[in-house]
Amino acid sequence: MTQEIRVRFAPSPTGKLHIGNARTAILNWLFARHSGGRLILRIEDTDLERSSKESEEGIYRDLIWLGIDWDEGPDIGGEFGPYRQMERTDIYGKYIDSLLGKGHAYHCFCTLEELDEMREKAQAAGKTDVWYDGRHRNLTAGEKEAFIAQGRKPVVRLKYPDEDISFHDIVKGDLTFPAGSTGDFVIARSDGTPTYNFVVVIDDGLMKISHVIRGDDHLSNTPKQIAVYRALGWQAPQFAHIPMILGDDRTRLSKRHGATSVQGYCEAGFLPAALINFMSLLSWSSPSGDEILSLERLVEEFDFSRVSKSPAVFDNEKLAWMNGMYIRALPLSRLTDLCLPYLEKAGYPLPQRDKLEQIVSLVQDNLERLKDCVEKLEFVFADRVAPATPDAVRMIEKESTPKVFWSFLRQADKVEHLDFAQFRKIMKTVSNETGVMGKDLWMPVRVALTGDIHGPDLPKVVDIFGKERCKKRIESALHLEK
Ligand code: GLU
Repeated sequence: MTQEIRVRFAPSPTGKLHIGNARTAILNWLFARHSGGRLILRIEDTDLERSSKESEEGIYRDLIWLGIDWDEGPDIGGEFGPYRQMERTDIYGKYIDSLLGKGHAYHCFCTLEELDEMREKAQAAGKTDVWYDGRHRNLTAGEKEAFIAQGRKPVVRLKYPDEDISFHDIVKGDLTFPAGSTGDFVIARSDGTPTYNFVVVIDDGLMKISHVIRGDDHLSNTPKQIAVYRALGWQAPQFAHIPMILGDDRTRLSKRHGATSVQGYCEAGFLPAALINFMSLLSWSSPSGDEILSLERLVEEFDFSRVSKSPAVFDNEKLAWMNGMYIRALPLSRLTDLCLPYLEKAGYPLPQRDKLEQIVSLVQDNLERLKDCVEKLEFVFADRVAPATPDAVRMIEKESTPKVFWSFLRQADKVEHLDFAQFRKIMKTVSNETGVMGKDLWMPVRVALTGDIHGPDLPKVVDIFGKERCKKRIESALHLEK
C-alpha cells in the first residue's frame, strides 16, 4: 500500500508571515497538489509571549492572498486536530509520561549553577555541542525524592542514543549525525511545558505527516526529532530540507533587505501569482527552462529532483521584472481594480470608470509594482507639470520650442475636439508651419503634457486630456519658458 502524502506548514504566529516561510508553504503546497496529497496547516503557538491571535489571522490572510489553500487546519478542522499546539498540551503530557515510564526519558533535577558548571567544563575541553554529562540519567528513587524534598523542579530529558543517526534527505541526500554530536536534550521544561523538538514529533507523527518539508535552518533539529521517533517506536517521516534564501549581498534574507513580509509585498503591489512563480523558482527550475509559469504548470511540473541544494538569492529586480510581466497580462479592468486603492489613497480626483481604465492603460506596459501607478500617473491628475529631468528642461528650453507651442495652440483652436486622430494631423501641420521635425517637434510637446521625455503613448494622453487640458499644459509650458 502506498502511503498517503500528507505535508504540513507549521508557522509560529509570532509576527508577520516572512517571505522565507511563505516559500516553505509554497513548496509544501506544490508538492501536495502535485501528488494529490493533503496540506495541513498547524499553528505552533507554544511561545506564549510572542504568539498572538493577530499574527495567526495574518498567516491565514497572507496564505489566502497568495492562493495557497489547505485541507486541514485550526480554522477548518480535520480528522487529526486540534491543529493549534496550545490546544494539544494534554496529548503531549501523555507521551512525556509514556517515555518516562518506558525509561526513554528521565527527570533531571540539575540546578542552573550545576548546568553552568557543566557547560564551562565542556567548553574548556573544547566541546560546545554536548555539554550535559548525563548525571541524572540513572537516579535512584531515593535520590529523586531527596531532590524533590529540596524543592527542585525537574526538567525531562530524552535519553539520546549513543549511535549515529543517519537519514536520507530528499534535497540534501544521505546525512549522518555521528554519535556524541547531540546529548540528552530537554523535552519538557520544569514548568511542564514541552519543547519544540518534542511537540513537533508528536504532531507530525499523530497527524500522519509523510514528508516534512521545511527550511534547512531546522536541519540540526532533525537528529533530535529522529531520536524522539525512535524512542516512541514510531516511523519517522521523510525529510526535505530546502535551502535558505539570501539577500542580494549573499547574507541571510532579513529586514535589512527591505520588505520581507508577505504583507509588505502585497502592499507594494506585487501580484500573488508573480510572487508564487518567483518563489517557486528560487530553488527549483522547470525542466523546460521557462521562467513564467502559471500555477497549473507549477503544480504539474514541481518535483523534488529539481530542487537545488544550495542557497537561493532573492533577486528583487527579477521579481519586479516578473511582476511586470504578470501586470501586462492582466485584463485592463482587473488592473484598474487593483490600482484603484493606490490612486484613491493618493487623493487623486478620479474620473468615471471608463476614463479611469483609459488612464490606467497608459502605464500597463511599464508598471513593475502596482503602487508605482501613483507616481507614474501623477502627471494626469496634477494641475500642472514641471519638466521632471534635465533632459526634459532642455527640450523646453530649445530655441524652436516656443514656435512649436504657439503653432500647436493656433491649430488646436481650429478644431472642436482634440482626439488621437486630430492630434496627429495637428502635429503634421505644426511641423509644416514651423519647419521643426522629429524629436524637436514631438519631445517638447510630450514634456509640456506629461513632464518627461519618456512615458506613455502621447496620442493616448491627448485623447484622455482633450483639447482644453492640452492647451492649458502647453500654455503653462510657454509661461514657464518666459
Ligand atoms: N514552527 C517552526 C517555524 O516556524 C517550524 C517547525 C517545522 O517546520 O518543523 O520555524
